[in-house]
Amino acid sequence: MSSVATITPRADRAAEALAAAGADALLVSDLINLRYLTGFVGTNGLAVIAPEWRTFATDFRYVSQAAEQVDPAFERQELPRDLVSAVEGLVPPGQLRLGFESSLPFRIYERLRSALPDRIELVPVDGLIEAMRAVKEPHEAERMQAAAALADAALGEVLGNGLIGRTEQEVALELEFEMRRLGAERPSFEPVVAAGAHGALPHASPRAVTIERGQMVVIDWGAQLDGYCSDCTRTIAAGPVGAREQEIYALVLEAQLAGLDATRAGTACADVDAAGRDVIAAAGHGEHFGHGVGHGVGLDIHEEPRLTQTSESTLEAGNAVTIEPGVYLPGDFGVRIEDLVIVTTDGREILTSMSKELTVV
Ligand code: ZN
Ligand code: ZN
Repeated sequence: MSSVATITPRADRAAEALAAAGADALLVSDLINLRYLTGFVGTNGLAVIAPEWRTFATDFRYVSQAAEQVDPAFERQELPRDLVSAVEGLVPPGQLRLGFESSLPFRIYERLRSALPDRIELVPVDGLIEAMRAVKEPHEAERMQAAAALADAALGEVLGNGLIGRTEQEVALELEFEMRRLGAERPSFEPVVAAGAHGALPHASPRAVTIERGQMVVIDWGAQLDGYCSDCTRTIAAGPVGAREQEIYALVLEAQLAGLDATRAGTACADVDAAGRDVIAAAGHGEHFGHGVGHGVGLDIHEEPRLTQTSESTLEAGNAVTIEPGVYLPGDFGVRIEDLVIVTTDGREILTSMSKELTVV
């Protein structure tokens, strides 16, 4: 758990940013934002932040957990399980503009609007906490480093048992088991283990299909540790592979290194995307790389900033992002190589330690 000393300033910073966002107070309903701001790890909670105002509410199931986890700067309340019905009790007195997050479901928004008195005007506040989360504090970067190291070790164990003759599902299950055995709370997401043509689907789910000699196997996995996610992809050769597979692998690696090279504070996210994408396009495979070159990672597996062609963000020191170009040849095979990095003022620190040479298992 984060210590109070590290969490309290986050709520202060959020409160300071409210005026510029056009709100007097913020209703925090997104559970990851709630964890980030208060320390609470549960499935039902709300907080309201304003200058000089911190309230938190959960229902009876989480009251004692909240007493342990929630930053004492927040005044805690127990509300009925349907928290929305009693939000007014969390909000400062008087006329005010109450910001709500864009992740708030529309039906909840509508219920809030009818439940709240006229003195409270609901205004959208988009991405305020997400922008704070995108810049990692040093202790957050350390946790992500530990999560990445754990995930690397887990894949090392799994590859030691071979790939050929096992199903994608067996390999994925063993990978999850190893991550948990090594201390992960859970996988960051359901691991991708995709052999041969299945690897040409960027988000393939593992199948009960046996991995065969000569196939390329895309493995995308991550561990969650102390709430923080890691994310990595390696494409492994199940036995010796053909010249085409090796050629595409070398191309993706070149694109990945170009993307890494472009990663530094002050660079437009779209330019990092372009650095990787241009290498692939120049080799005639532009149409075989359909996703962005990377994304932010933290308490959530996909967060800000997004490294895409259309991104308008600029990298900042402290961003934790993936660099993960791929080439996907429909009906044939796919290759993706992904590292997790922390952006620094003069470059980047790579958290993933696994080799990027084509590994034959
Ligand atoms: Zn990934
Ligand atoms: Zn990723």
